[in-house]
Amino acid sequence: MSESCIFCKIVRKEAPASIVYEDDDVFAFMDIRPVNLGHTLVIPKQHCKDIYETPEELISKTYAITKRLSTAVKKATNADGISIIQQNEKAAGQEVFHLHVHIIPRFKDQKMPNFAKLTFADRKQLEETAQKIKQNL
Ligand code: 5GP
Ligand code: ZN
Repeated sequence: MSESCIFCKIVRKEAPASIVYEDDDVFAFMDIRPVNLGHTLVIPKQHCKDIYETPEELISKTYAITKRLSTAVKKATNADGISIIQQNEKAAGQEVFHLHVHIIPRFKDQKMPNFAKLTFADRKQLEETAQKIKQNL
């Protein structure tokens, strides 16, 4: 665990988040600046900076849950497609240095926006979407 890492704080429930999944090793919650509602982040609970530093077993567990959640996100949002993105290092767009997989609901004819220009979602909407995803798990 890292004292200052925002995702570690979310795992420890010291920072607010709309949680969709939790087990002994993996945690998932709504992205606070979503591309679309339903945009979910899946992380190992253990603080691992990026793909290079994460043990293979934890990558496997994180992606197994990513697969299950992808179906639930698609059902909950009626998305036309799902993008899975995982960025490593600043040059690749990584902003939070605790490994995370993005599950992003996509809609026909909508281009992927610039992540840096996304705005904060309303907490109530994030909570409602998290509930819908949980019901579809
Ligand atoms: P990256 O650019 O590192 O791949 O993605 C980091 C993601 O974490 C961004 O999409 C950003 O909106 C999200 N994020 C950053 N801080 C927080 C936070 O405090 N809570 C939540 N739920 N998401 C966050
Ligand atoms: Zn962390």
